[in-house]
Amino acid sequence: MKALRAFWFRPEMRRKMKFQREADPEWAQQVAQRPGCEGLFSCLQCGTCSGTCPLSIYMDFAPRRIIGLVREGFREDALGCQTIWLCASCYACAVHCPRQIRITDVMYSLKREALQYKLYPRRFPIPVLAQEFYGIVSDRGRSSEFWLVLRMALHSNPLQLLTLIGTGWRLFRTGRLSLHKEQIEHVKELQAELAGRRGT
Ligand code: SF4
Ligand code: SF4
Repeated sequence: MKALRAFWFRPEMRRKMKFQREADPEWAQQVAQRPGCEGLFSCLQCGTCSGTCPLSIYMDFAPRRIIGLVREGFREDALGCQTIWLCASCYACAVHCPRQIRITDVMYSLKREALQYKLYPRRFPIPVLAQEFYGIVSDRGRSSEFWLVLRMALHSNPLQLLTLIGTGWRLFRTGRLSLHKEQIEHVKELQAELAGRRGT
């Protein structure tokens, strides 16, 4: 029993301090060559972006720190954080940046890479939602709320479904939630287009 408890409740110890040897400067150079990320290395670390961002109080790394992490090449931290998924793409940071760095585009670029290499935080619902949404839309051309929420919950936190049953039932009863999966005409053309874009 003691061993079982130790296994389940073993606290996860993570070192917060970073060593320079853990950085990957080549990755930083690669990111800086992507569209929208070109200005990365001109960042002054002034913090205007963090001060402007309406969501920075919820982020594990404020936008200034994200730019700093990327610039130094701390790939794992930049791709594994919650910040990039909390970004609401409001562009306030980019508008006020004295170096015209397109911080929102940097966030998008990091999100794409985090999804590609599955480096996003485990069980964090937003990246799961993004993937499931893309999966449903590329399959049928339309999203279905019921199936989207169900798939998101099953792949992130199935227990969450218990808290949604009441609301779901009320929406279902009043005809605002449907189990029907809609599909557009010519869905094959959409799939071919998406496949072409993935290949570019
Ligand atoms: S506002 Fe621009 S220059 Fe200032 S820290 Fe943010 S990204 Fe860097
Ligand atoms: S675009 Fe994202 S990072 Fe920039 S201010 Fe808006 S929420 Fe914050």
